[in-house]
Amino acid sequence: MIDENCIFCKIANGEIPSKTVYEDDDFRVILDLGPASKGHALILPKDHYNDLYELTDDLTGKAFILAKKISILLKKKLNCEGLNLVQNNGRTAGQTVFHFHIHIIPRYNDDQQKIGWKPQEVTQEELEDTLQKIFES
Ligand code: 5GP
Ligand code: ZN
Repeated sequence: MIDENCIFCKIANGEIPSKTVYEDDDFRVILDLGPASKGHALILPKDHYNDLYELTDDLTGKAFILAKKISILLKKKLNCEGLNLVQNNGRTAGQTVFHFHIHIIPRYNDDQQKIGWKPQEVTQEELEDTLQKIFES
């Protein structure tokens, strides 16, 4: 299903042109217009899903297998020294376009980018509390 108001639906289905790296029946992979690095690509399903929570199991499997395929392609063709997969869900997590996508970000020793988090301290009790919350019925 396509959302008429969604820019990634339009791009994924070719209504808006994009720099396309790969396309099949389910996905289009495009170059990001605000790249973190050379070759920063986005995997977009052609159907509209807001985020990972909504994506079907079938497409989830296919999307991550495709991410591996494109990662190997970019590594080979662009000679990146590393690569991050990033997938944001929700505004709090940095999602700005609410159509599921996976970022594939080639990394270079001199790219000056920082993708990560500040590790927090945690006690055994806090870890135990987290587990209890996850397992409680
Ligand atoms: P998010 O923050 O939602 O995880 O990532 C959205 C990404 O989409 C950003 O990296 C942004 O640069 C990219 N983006 C937003 N609009 C367009 C567009 O029209 N074309 C392309 N190729 N990328 C876009
Ligand atoms: Zn969409």
